[in-house]
Amino acid sequence: VRWGVPAAADATVALVPHSIEAQMGDHALAFFDEFVLEESTLPAERRKQLEALFAELAAVADEPPGRLRLLFRGGARIGPNAFALPGGQIIITDTMVLLARDDDEIAGVLGHEIGHVEERHGVKLLLRAAGLTGAVVLITGDASSLLEDASMLPLMLLHFSYARDFEREADARSTALLRATGRSPAALAALFERLTAACEPRCVYDSWVSTHPAPAERIEALRRAAAEAAP
Ligand SMILES: [Zn+2]
Repeated sequence: VRWGVPAAADATVALVPHSIEAQMGDHALAFFDEFVLEESTLPAERRKQLEALFAELAAVADEPPGRLRLLFRGGARIGPNAFALPGGQIIITDTMVLLARDDDEIAGVLGHEIGHVEERHGVKLLLRAAGLTGAVVLITGDASSLLEDASMLPLMLLHFSYARDFEREADARSTALLRATGRSPAALAALFERLTAACEPRCVYDSWVSTHPAPAERIEALRRAAAEAAP
């Protein structure tokens, strides 16, 4: 049963406490670590640089301090990728780090994923799909029943793209975070273009760009924002 009214599902997110959201994220991470991801092989020095970059973005984000956390993982099976888990953990694969031409591009990806956390898109995705459970949460105010449905969340995060409205919101947050840290949203547009081009004629099924199709309108919106931000 699919809940036909996204607006109602989205509103229900207010009833889901952070503790439940964090548990969903932990479950998803355990799943990914067991079945999908490997340990990162990035040098410690490089990780330290990227952690500093992430901290810069997190400092201007809307989440309470300490909630946003960056995790490095190998992702031989899923290529250049990044995703946000409910609760604030953000995973980036080594391949994505290596594919980026500069740290501004990585900042664009991380900003986008921080946007998904801030807007609580993981839980909204689950609520939109959870049908009756979502309705039960709405009526009873008890979000713990959602945890039973949360087992499907990792697969949803890997295989389904977020709805277009979620992607636009995450792009907008990335744009704001890039600007707030003195960077240009053009970097994210450039990365999207390269990832999309690298996908021709066929995308690795689970890559970031397969779950983040970047139609011309999204790339154009980022470029427009970059032009507006330019002095
Ligand atoms: Zn996204």
